[in-house]
Amino acid sequence: MHADIRPVSSSLLRICADVVFPPVCHSCNASLLPGDSIACPSCLRAILPVDEWDDAYREAFANLNEERTVADFVAAWYFERDGPLRALMHRLKYGGMSSIGVAFGRVLGERIREAGLGGSDMVVPLPLHTSRMRERGYNQCEHIARGVSAVTGSPLRTGVLRRTRFTPSQTPLGHGGRRENVRDAFALSPHDLQAVAGRTVLLVDDVVTTGATMRSCAGALHRAGARAVIACAVAIAR
Ligand SMILES: [Zn+2]
Repeated sequence: MHADIRPVSSSLLRICADVVFPPVCHSCNASLLPGDSIACPSCLRAILPVDEWDDAYREAFANLNEERTVADFVAAWYFERDGPLRALMHRLKYGGMSSIGVAFGRVLGERIREAGLGGSDMVVPLPLHTSRMRERGYNQCEHIARGVSAVTGSPLRTGVLRRTRFTPSQTPLGHGGRRENVRDAFALSPHDLQAVAGRTVLLVDDVVTTGATMRSCAGALHRAGARAVIACAVAIAR
């Protein structure tokens, strides 16, 4: 009996919540139709998907693999300064909308599967420094990684990588500055060293800009004996 009651009451709650807070596009605030997830169809159409034959993708992959620590690179979209993806990312990072992160992660997970990389050993999100974590409350990459894990079936491992020192925001720094800013800024938690040795890791970021953070994390994973690191990002900045 009870088993029948629970789903009915949770779907009723959902309907009530939708009446009080009708679902809207997280980018343009247009009303969403049943079946739409985080954004309306016209915003989603305006987000450019990544094609691995594009120069922008190849250039980003070459940057990531400068130190030959990244075996492959999967990204879903291009991040443009005035595109709808910017509003979605902003709500994910600063508005506490973790559901956007999971939805992004699911799309990224599909790309990873299409690339034949779904059978990796673990999904590891890029870490935030603890002080930024306290300030913001959560790490957006962790929610993206959760979506990736749900689609690929590779287990999510949080807390594997940690920042060894606080690094200032990357935003105002140029390419060289970013590289110096994050050099050797990451290490593995001692109890995770064993877990990573000989494994293939899906390393998850939100937006890849110069790739310096991703490279630094991939280096730390290799020093711990990872067999391969696959860089995965929701978007490539252009
Ligand atoms: Zn919209």
